[in-house]
Amino acid sequence: GSGSTVTKRNPVFSTINADDIAQFKEILGEKYVIQDEERLLAANTDWMRKYKGSSKLLLQPRSTEEVSQILKYCNSRCLAVVPQGGNTGLVGGSVPVFDEVIINMGSMNDIISLDKVSGVLVCEAGCILENLVSFLDNQGFIMPLDLGAKGSCQIGGNVSTNAGGLRFVRYGSLHGNVLGLEAVLANGIVLDMLGTLRKDNTGYDLKHLFIGSEGSLGIVTKISILAPPKLSSVNLAFLACKDYVSCQNLLLEAKRKLGEILSAFEFLDGNSMDLVLNHLEGVRNPLSPSTHDFYVLIETTGSDESSDKEKLEAFLLRSMEGGLISDGVLAQDMNQALSFWRIREGVPEALMKAGAVYKYDLSLPVEKMYDLVEAMRIRLGPAAEVIGYGHLGDGNLHLNISLPEYNDNVLAQIEPFVYEWTSKHRGSISAEHGLGLMKANKIHYSRSPESVHVMASIKKLLDPNGILNPYKVLPPSLAS
Ligand code: FAD
Repeated sequence: GSGSTVTKRNPVFSTINADDIAQFKEILGEKYVIQDEERLLAANTDWMRKYKGSSKLLLQPRSTEEVSQILKYCNSRCLAVVPQGGNTGLVGGSVPVFDEVIINMGSMNDIISLDKVSGVLVCEAGCILENLVSFLDNQGFIMPLDLGAKGSCQIGGNVSTNAGGLRFVRYGSLHGNVLGLEAVLANGIVLDMLGTLRKDNTGYDLKHLFIGSEGSLGIVTKISILAPPKLSSVNLAFLACKDYVSCQNLLLEAKRKLGEILSAFEFLDGNSMDLVLNHLEGVRNPLSPSTHDFYVLIETTGSDESSDKEKLEAFLLRSMEGGLISDGVLAQDMNQALSFWRIREGVPEALMKAGAVYKYDLSLPVEKMYDLVEAMRIRLGPAAEVIGYGHLGDGNLHLNISLPEYNDNVLAQIEPFVYEWTSKHRGSISAEHGLGLMKANKIHYSRSPESVHVMASIKKLLDPNGILNPYKVLPPSLAS
């Protein structure tokens, strides 16, 4: 049992026949209707190789109009679909559960415009995040979000999962940075919400329904997003703390003393560091020879090289003297900064290489966050390696349980305990990864029955046949 959530195929959905294929070829052209087994295998399998569907068909639309025609047809035939971006999602949302048609957005990858006065970027949903980052870099701007999967994930996937990532502490959520969207509803209707204004209170702000709804309400085709100006001075410190309380106090101090230049505050525990050192090539601990229980990365981004550096150095000195930091090093150049980031960003990859992994992406009050990691270690004993890392600055813990292979007995020790613990401490069972297939049935740990009921009503209204990403996000009993 790897995928953990077992569901039955909903019999209301049709299965693909030769007429359907002919119709899709008519809409897209032969080349963009993919039945090749190798490509289907990749598109059916998620990044963790934990969830695997059995779709026989992958469609690659190149325009909003094509997406609209595909959905209109699928809706009329009651064919279920899975919208797919870069397929880097971590909750089994981006791959089919059974034979749903995969609609991959990778061919819609045009940058449409950049307003250099306001910093508003308009692009298609299939643009890869890293390509947007390089494009903006040349124009003197940055993306307001950054994450370890940037080389593969797409902006449409980022918006659909409301991805958080490494810059959240500075620039906030996509609910704030996304200014407009174009989305196609299940029946093929195109909703033009592609505004570029900062302020616009004209009735209900419908775009927010599509930010974070994981392809369950529509397919996002275009995005306008606010890109902050690129600032000239970036500094990165890699630090060690002797215990979790010190990490917490360091965060508080960093917010106070670094103020507006603080742009990332990430943490990993000693077990995460060991994992990275053991499984990723060419990575070394910049603070060796000694090892530490906790590591923190602090990035500052500002406009004045000398005063920013002075501010950071003074902060580090005071924190060292006050005992909040036990060791630390400032990146001397870009390459060293990248090598520090590689440690933090490499944790998911190292976990994959180590074997099977159960991943939990939780929001918790910062002072309680690490208690859960320790409680889990005691609970599981030596049967599994429990590690904690994540976006400390945002109260977001990535709790990961690594073991040689998936094991239902261990899983039964982890769940529902992890969800109950989170719920009891008024946390969220999905901080930034979404619910996908993994947690569709767990939504009640973080949302009231009344809220879930309203969500199910919205789903019914926008997708009455339930063809968009079935079995995901909401409990299947409510969504169909
Ligand atoms: P996919 O995985 O393809 O899809 C994700 C969901 O969105 C699915 O439900 C899919 O149906 C839907 N979807 C995709 N495109 C569209 C569209 N155009 N319209 C409608 N629905 C769509 N996440 C974070 O939040 N923060 C992190 O720091 C972070 N770090 C990561 C690091 C690594 C190494 C990896 C592998 C993943 C990480 N993730 C992180 C998770 C993942 O990268 C994000 O969820 C990302 O936003 C997914 O984008 P994607 O294009 O790969 O979407």
